[in-house]
Amino acid sequence: MLKLTRFRFYLNIEVYMASRPRIGITTRIELETGRFYLGRHYSEAIWAAGGVPVMLPLIAERDYIDAAVSTLDGLLLPGSDTDPDPARYGEEPAIGLKKVIFEKDETDRLAILAADELGLPILGICFGMQILNVVRGGSLVQDIPSQVTNALKHEQGMPLERLSHRVDIEEDSHLAEIASSEPGEKRVNSHHHQSVKDVGTGLRVSARAADGVVEAVEGIDRARFQVGVQWHPELCWTFDGFSRRLFQRFVEECASGMSLSGEKPKVMSQLS
Ligand code: MN
Repeated sequence: MLKLTRFRFYLNIEVYMASRPRIGITTRIELETGRFYLGRHYSEAIWAAGGVPVMLPLIAERDYIDAAVSTLDGLLLPGSDTDPDPARYGEEPAIGLKKVIFEKDETDRLAILAADELGLPILGICFGMQILNVVRGGSLVQDIPSQVTNALKHEQGMPLERLSHRVDIEEDSHLAEIASSEPGEKRVNSHHHQSVKDVGTGLRVSARAADGVVEAVEGIDRARFQVGVQWHPELCWTFDGFSRRLFQRFVEECASGMSLSGEKPKVMSQLS
């Protein structure tokens, strides 16, 4: 009797976990200490939205990334304190370019390619949106203050979660649909000195700031959820409905892919 109870307990846990999509989140690397790390907010936002966050170390090897991503239902590309290597979009380093780390760029690139193989939903945040655009063949403004005339202040400083500037969202987009859950104009926080310049293949702009700086991109093919935002919704979801809805929508897309692949029904059928 005890055994049966325990078995049921584990089975329920398995079913509960299986009902939540597993979402990989690439980390950052601290060269001085040799640590992989990432701020807590990305994982907490995914968990709160109904997903299981899975942190991915920056082992920039195809075999590792393919093996890791094959266990996932979605990919979150987070922000970074580094910039994508401008050589990846055919430019020399400009004044204002910040730190570049090969393992960060390359792991995110391999994770995007692996997610493409499986058709997984992708959410890119800040650096994550930029590297997504670069991997798709696009380019970046290397440094907004020195390269964009009449630019807004896109590095707002503290407090990090303050919604500091407006975004104008383009119609007929994933982002417009997400934004429609809340009335009124949309404001976001801003912690970036780079932005999308030429838009990558298969992507489109879906939001801009008042100075024209690209604030969001997404896949032209709306059948697959691929959304990149230049702001940091992971810092705002506890109080901002737009940020919360973005994570919820991403996790919903990841969950719907699970049922298509048959993973979830297989576990559920073991019950009956
Ligand atoms: Mn901004």
